[in-house]
Amino acid sequence: LRILLIGNGGREHALAWKLSQSPKVESIIAVPGNGGTAGLPKTTNNTSVAADDYPALVEFALKERINLVVPGPEAPLVDGVEGYFRDARIPVFGPSKEAARMEGSKTFSKDFMKKHNIPTAAYENFSDYDKASEYLRSVKHNVVIKATGLAAGKGVIIPETQEEAQQGLKEIMLDKAFGSAGSEVVIEEFLTGDELSILSFCDGKTIKSLPPAQDHKRIGEGDTGLNTGGMGCYAPTKIATPELIARIEKEILQPTIDGMAADGFPFKGCLFTGLMIGPDGSPKVLEYNVRFGDPETQTVLPLLESDLADIMGACAGDFPLLEHVPVKISNQFSATVVVAAPGYPNSYPKNIPMQVSSAPADINIFHAGTKLSEEGNLLTSGGRVIAAQAVGPSLRAAVDKAYSSGIPLISFEGMYFRKDIAHRAFRSSES
Ligand code: ATP
Repeated sequence: LRILLIGNGGREHALAWKLSQSPKVESIIAVPGNGGTAGLPKTTNNTSVAADDYPALVEFALKERINLVVPGPEAPLVDGVEGYFRDARIPVFGPSKEAARMEGSKTFSKDFMKKHNIPTAAYENFSDYDKASEYLRSVKHNVVIKATGLAAGKGVIIPETQEEAQQGLKEIMLDKAFGSAGSEVVIEEFLTGDELSILSFCDGKTIKSLPPAQDHKRIGEGDTGLNTGGMGCYAPTKIATPELIARIEKEILQPTIDGMAADGFPFKGCLFTGLMIGPDGSPKVLEYNVRFGDPETQTVLPLLESDLADIMGACAGDFPLLEHVPVKISNQFSATVVVAAPGYPNSYPKNIPMQVSSAPADINIFHAGTKLSEEGNLLTSGGRVIAAQAVGPSLRAAVDKAYSSGIPLISFEGMYFRKDIAHRAFRSSES
């Protein structure tokens, strides 16, 4: 296989790392890639073509004889990148534009869940500000207000008072804080419980999942402070017992895939289902994403024992094949600690010189916001810079190894990381 990988985050480094282990993979071109993909076997970065110039990407792929395209982030999928490659008969591991609406439009995905009886928070959609405002005044329960479109994880408001709710609604719908992403909103019931994320491979018909993971969104220890792209992650989460996973598959994952196929937009690629497990143990969908999560991917791919290229090839083909391809999962635990630039998620400096020592076999250092200078020196280039990931026979062992053997391999001025990844699991004596 000759693979074109679109993106430049930690997720893409982890994808390229896992794909490069496959004997079936001849080469990977990352557009644009980062300082981590640059150092992998079989992998090269390419910045001669823009990652969002889809006709140019297709031309590039034809010239390079690419036979599998893997878009990492949501934006190209929601833009319909799959269709550009489909027209050129190049298989894509990722959903069509129609299927990508499950992430691109929250009003669409809520209506989909309602139609297919998939458990989710009670909700109303609004495109009219006055009606939304009136509704907010009338509801008795706590609410969550969500801009319908892509807002890089920032378009969700969890108000504590009526004033905050009205102010948030105004910012989204009238002040257009998120542009056209806020032309419609979902106002839904606030749910309590434990969150978990499941990444699943899908070929339009069959769905096979990776172990459930838990991300840490806030910048500060104890889940305090501003929201981020994700500061760390662990898997599997023990709240997800085999019984709960079976229930999620039966009540949520398979009905989602079946519903999408029945509605004429079958899902191919990685479906990311964000779930809330309520105090009574019942799972509800918080959101769908139509691609691998970041940092979930860095956490769960090291637990995948099967060949990722085989799985992706089966999902991207014209005929459902995933049923016959193994998705074997190790029985170990995995933990990822993200290291950020000083100041993140507010403004932060870039181009800080960094040193990264080589990692032993059971530890991975996944780059996100890094680049190589013209002289070949490693520099920071983003807010979430790099992550240390480790696998161990228990959650405690994996977390301890990521902190004691992974983090010391990374050094740059002002580096920041949370010291309490998996704290909730340890508090509930999960290990
Ligand atoms: P992401 O960055 O995860 O893609 P997003 O903008 O797509 O975020 P959601 O995942 O729908 O938005 O919501 C973000 C976060 O807000 C969730 O991870 C969860 O913590 C919280 N949240 C969303 N909906 C609810 C709800 N109904 N009840 C309680 N919390 C919620």
